[in-house]
Amino acid sequence: MPTDVIIKNGTIVTANSTFESHLTVDDGKVTGIVTDETPPSGDQVIDASGKLVLPGLVDPHVHIDNEPKNRGGTYEAETQAAAAGGVTTFIDFAFQGGDRSMSDPDADLIDGIAHKRAKQDDAYVDYSLHGVLHRETPASFEQLAPAIDEGVSSFKMFLSTYEIGVSNGFVRSVLEKIAELDAVALLHTEDSSVCDALTEELKRENKREATYYPDSRPPYAEAMAADDVLRMVRETGAKYYGVHTTCRESADVIEAYQRELDNVRAETCTHYTALDRSVHERLGNLPKIAPPIRSPDDVEAMFEHLAKGTLSVVSTDHSVYHEKYKQVDAWWDSPFGANSLQYTLPVFYHEAVEKRGYSPSFLVELMSTNPAQTFGFPNKGTLDPGTDADIVVFDPNETWTIDEEDNHSNSTYSIYDGREVQGAVKQTFVRGELVADDGEIVANSSPGQFVERETPNWTA
Ligand SMILES: [Zn+2]
Repeated sequence: MPTDVIIKNGTIVTANSTFESHLTVDDGKVTGIVTDETPPSGDQVIDASGKLVLPGLVDPHVHIDNEPKNRGGTYEAETQAAAAGGVTTFIDFAFQGGDRSMSDPDADLIDGIAHKRAKQDDAYVDYSLHGVLHRETPASFEQLAPAIDEGVSSFKMFLSTYEIGVSNGFVRSVLEKIAELDAVALLHTEDSSVCDALTEELKRENKREATYYPDSRPPYAEAMAADDVLRMVRETGAKYYGVHTTCRESADVIEAYQRELDNVRAETCTHYTALDRSVHERLGNLPKIAPPIRSPDDVEAMFEHLAKGTLSVVSTDHSVYHEKYKQVDAWWDSPFGANSLQYTLPVFYHEAVEKRGYSPSFLVELMSTNPAQTFGFPNKGTLDPGTDADIVVFDPNETWTIDEEDNHSNSTYSIYDGREVQGAVKQTFVRGELVADDGEIVANSSPGQFVERETPNWTA
């Protein structure tokens, strides 16, 4: 019987090796890495000569909230963007009471999880969820264990000015509970009172141009909040994952705690490795995200800390807005967030491998293997036989220019529009099914599945 899929003559790239081989897929699983000269026969044969064959990306930081007011994300569009970009699994967020808008005060986190699980019908790639705890009520603690039973084994809180921010006191209690349950805590770390005061100052001075925005949320506000949380992580022993680290100051704080603790991990995002704050001169409010895009020195600091292992994951923090809501007169009236699922792989490949000489294995480690291991996806982030056949065929030699017109996302813009990159996603397979081919979605239906996660083991 022929094999379902053969990817022949490619260069297989895993987190620890790179070699020429054929890859075989049956029933949605990788079945073999075949080094024979003649590949076996298969129903679907992809010639990957001159191309890299990577495990699909696992992006642990993605927001898809369909709020008509200014977020336009739908699972159909955003998972198609993911597939076109080589992201085969991501982790979205479930809020207490449904979507981010928190419309239903009588509903809880379990309802939020059910609401997002139902999106499976529209998903073109696999996904999972982090629970978000934004209600400082005793009932919040009771929702953690049932959420873990639903396959949601990590929980995020925001120390921020958003309406969903929580206090240090609440964070401490949650960290204690998370430690007890062996789950993972994620924190958005920015000191809210510092950011609020600076924002008010800039408003009084009428500094409305987007170029001033980064001054409202400085690196030290991020480092202060990271330090606050890490002191509580040390006391409680909870597994901690710092989201979207942006700057040298904050990464240095994380590194200092990692010297004494083995339960501290952190990520940065693609845009903090590829853009500096001068991008606001060109694109106005479009790249307004929190924490902000920083200085050129901070960009280099991200690579230094990725190389050292302080930061072990590169995510997107993908969020979906229409341009008209972003490009308003004063930056403070513009929402936070930018989409990038479709372009994260070529942009980071260009910055890390092409420009700075890191190996493709380093990229696979940061974008596939580490996030899968950190969040408990034993069948993702690898090409080991028996695991899910989530595969990306990537052409490292193709040079092309990113054009926001090609967005699959409901977001109408890209912060990478007009950027020339070397390296292009050619094919994306999700559990053995070809979903995207040369930027086009070719799957007939939506093969994505909700993936339940156990609490991850960080000592392995
Ligand atoms: Zn985020």
